[in-house]
Amino acid sequence: MRAVVTGAAGFIGSHLCAHLLASGDTVVGIDALTDSYDPALKARNLRLLAPHPAFTHHRADLLDADLGTLLDGAEVVYHLAGQPGVRPSWGADFARYADRNLLATQTLVEAARRRPLRKFLYASSSSVYGDAPVFPTPETVCPRPVSPYGVTKLAAEHVCELYRTAHGLPTVSLRLFTVYGPRQRPDMAFARLIDAALTGGPFPLYGDGEQTRDFTYVGDVVTAMRAAACAGFTGVANLGGGRPVSMKQAVTTVEQLIGPVILHARPGGPGEARHTGADIALAAREFGYRPRTDLYDGLTAMVKHTMTWRHLNG
Ligand code: NAD
Repeated sequence: MRAVVTGAAGFIGSHLCAHLLASGDTVVGIDALTDSYDPALKARNLRLLAPHPAFTHHRADLLDADLGTLLDGAEVVYHLAGQPGVRPSWGADFARYADRNLLATQTLVEAARRRPLRKFLYASSSSVYGDAPVFPTPETVCPRPVSPYGVTKLAAEHVCELYRTAHGLPTVSLRLFTVYGPRQRPDMAFARLIDAALTGGPFPLYGDGEQTRDFTYVGDVVTAMRAAACAGFTGVANLGGGRPVSMKQAVTTVEQLIGPVILHARPGGPGEARHTGADIALAAREFGYRPRTDLYDGLTAMVKHTMTWRHLNG
């Protein structure tokens, strides 16, 4: 299949490109290498993909790219480009979230809607649920985001649903639950936790540490994305790890793998859901989703990768 991947230089996008290429697909990557975190890390991700003959990358912003040309011949579009992160979405930075999550998505679906795509897949987020009243949470629960980030992800998901129902664009929105694994974004909890354990620096633990997250291994996520693109399913589905754990339990697992972590207690901020947990029955039924990597194995892979990377880069 000929695939276009937006956000190809990012954490999940670069894993998805590698998975598609290993599956025999041709991949056109699009990424602006925004300043959401160190662009050198995104350039590193692209360097891992660059040698593959079926991969090309275009450094472009979805808001002003020549999407007509970039989408030429595409069978599947995987739309992962966006501005992630819950805490910074409060305040003045909101405009970036609105631009990169909502406006960029509308620009892309508008460019895609007259094309004979097999699938348009959008990386939505568990943050659309906010503090859900039911665990595990099925897709039928009314989404009520508790952060501005979640609001923009939900609005973009609605845009995809609208283009599906009004224009027949075959969209799938996958609500991803806290994704982790090698090359995780440096602002995310596990990347910071492993860094703290390796360097002896402090790890800020927000709230009482009893908040739970349905951590999902990146390899399981990208496998499911391609499976969803190949299946007949359209609409919205959860992608979670299937076994939520508390932040305290996650800290203990990293301590087992590396050694003690110095915790600095911080008050929990607004915008953080207390618990997240995905009901994954729909994804299992529609495209055979089954998370295969448990937290211990996933963190082991992440720790090994981080240590190798540090060793190679001094
Ligand atoms: P990431 O920041 O590593 O990747 C996103 C990429 O999009 C970046 O490389 C950035 O440069 C690019 N980008 C942003 N705006 C762009 C634009 N206008 N044009 C072109 N490129 C642009 O983030 P990630 O963690 O890999 O997340 C990927 C997607 O999955 C995001 O949409 C995010 O909201 C969603 N998601 C992630 C998680 C998670 O746990 N990581 C959970 C739920 C949803």
